[in-house]
Amino acid sequence: MKRLLGIAICAALLSACTATRAGSKRAAPLIAISAAGEHESRVGQAYIDAVIAAGGVPYIIPIQTDSASVAALVSRADGVLMIGGEDIAPAFYGEAALPQMGKVNARRDTFDLLLARLALRARKPVLAICRGIQAVNVAFGGTLWQDIPSQLPQSGICHKAPEGQAASHSIDIAPGSRLSKIYGCNSMEVNSFHHQSVKDAAPGFTVTARSADGIVEAMERFAGGDRVLAVQFHPEKAFAAGDPAGLRPFIWLVQESQK
Ligand code: MN
Repeated sequence: MKRLLGIAICAALLSACTATRAGSKRAAPLIAISAAGEHESRVGQAYIDAVIAAGGVPYIIPIQTDSASVAALVSRADGVLMIGGEDIAPAFYGEAALPQMGKVNARRDTFDLLLARLALRARKPVLAICRGIQAVNVAFGGTLWQDIPSQLPQSGICHKAPEGQAASHSIDIAPGSRLSKIYGCNSMEVNSFHHQSVKDAAPGFTVTARSADGIVEAMERFAGGDRVLAVQFHPEKAFAAGDPAGLRPFIWLVQESQK
């Protein structure tokens, strides 16, 4: 029933978006999605469905490390979505790897850091999710907790919940932040599927949400024409599970991509 209700509300949101686009005669924006994968480039269906439901046209940027090629793809995009995945190798932020580090993918690390930098240089709006917030942070000089359970045992919060669990812990959102405006609240329950997180936020980024243990759950950058919204939780999973609020960050991305 909850799922049906979510679909009904989202259908209403979708028709509203379509009406807006028709009224302003603007084409649906092209949303470039960063690929995951080791021997192939793929994107989880939930991300694709959320972009379409929000009124965008998704396409996948395959994993690649040629900056001219990535720049050419970014230049054709109206907005960029950076998705979740493996741990980022600590060498990219100047640390030795702890034994608790998970699987890394050096080619994808290089690709994601390149994509984040080129997207900002091209002034494209960016929505970064889970690994995405970590990639953006490292790309601009920030650092990560390599493993929350072992580095912050006092946390008391399970950030790596079993797949499928809708809400895992609460976050406090900075009043007045873009995230607060998008969700219309200053605290909420979020899902949580990560064991790494932002440690030191990159210069120029503002931390806009934390869980009760102090872990960074969102940050943003809106100075000088930049438009970056980054979250540690998974709105696409929330939307796929029937929570219409999960679509809000995607609607933000699509709207920004039309400006
Ligand atoms: Mn979390």
